[in-house]
Amino acid sequence: MQFSKNFIRQVADATDIVDLISDHGVTLKRAGSSYKGLCPFHSEKTPSFNVNPERGFFHCFGCSVSGDGIKFLMQYDRLSFSEAVEELAKRAGIPLEIQSGGPRSSNPEEDRGLHCLKEAAAFYSEKLSVPEGENAVKYLQQRGVPESMWKQFQIGISPDEWQGTLNYLQKKNISLSEMSKTGLIKVSEKSARHYDTFRGRLMFPVKDVRGRCIGFGARAMKPEDKPKYLNSPETSYYRKSQVLYGLHEGLTSIRKKRRLIFVEGYLDVIRLHENGFTEAVAPCGTALTQEHLKIALRYADTVILLFDGDSAGNNAALRHAHLLLPVALESYILTLPEGEDPDTFLFYKDKRKF
Ligand SMILES: [Zn+2]
Repeated sequence: MQFSKNFIRQVADATDIVDLISDHGVTLKRAGSSYKGLCPFHSEKTPSFNVNPERGFFHCFGCSVSGDGIKFLMQYDRLSFSEAVEELAKRAGIPLEIQSGGPRSSNPEEDRGLHCLKEAAAFYSEKLSVPEGENAVKYLQQRGVPESMWKQFQIGISPDEWQGTLNYLQKKNISLSEMSKTGLIKVSEKSARHYDTFRGRLMFPVKDVRGRCIGFGARAMKPEDKPKYLNSPETSYYRKSQVLYGLHEGLTSIRKKRRLIFVEGYLDVIRLHENGFTEAVAPCGTALTQEHLKIALRYADTVILLFDGDSAGNNAALRHAHLLLPVALESYILTLPEGEDPDTFLFYKDKRKF
């Protein structure tokens, strides 16, 4: 079967290479930003087989075999190129008929978008270490979010200016049209001038499974700023129904525990991770969808719904329970005391008596 370049790219992007290789019986251990294990292609006693999840690539320093997920299946399972693509599409739940003109943009455009978002995420997180970011740091301290957690989730602050992000990205040789496509800037209908979408907001980079920033959730810092949460728009690489906040950060433990805890907010995810529940994830500005459950099926046998302890949270849990019933997952609803959310519940847990 012939596949379009876009389709192959989409399949490769949806492939979690660490997961794929682990599923083939190779024990991988985290080593910095990559993973190490004993090479399945030559006999060795000390691990020289490296897997880089961000690049979706493996390489053996012993026998020099290297490649992406497709190449891995071709080598390991002795599949042809198209058989390997088909196999990976099946794993990722991507239907084969998508091949003619799938929903993805062309590669160079997507690459430019991801590059732009990566620069922006670095810019925002650096702002927390300069005087401009003092208020945001104070806010995080008040909420009891330790520095190790803001670093891990690369939280940042967007400048409280009309063109702060725009000017910075322009200095990085990123064009206005590229910025617009990521949703980081908008055009004023009145003046036709471009301006920053996110101004003076706490920025939560949303990462895909490989750890690439594909969009932002942005929380208002001033009560008069509405809405409280603003999210990046959908793009070919940021489809909200298919993205879970915290999945990348928790992947290692999710694989180990085969369990996911679904919560509602970014700060809930972070609080749970801080307390050792590194399998906590949240949808980004949407309710849970069938697509999210497909992701869950890939990584977990058990899911727990942990929503706010109020009537809205309880209703949401019940609605989602219906979505979960037909799915082959062991599912639980965990309810919190009235008025608590996972964040407050864990934050105050040592500070009061039950
Ligand atoms: Zn090797």
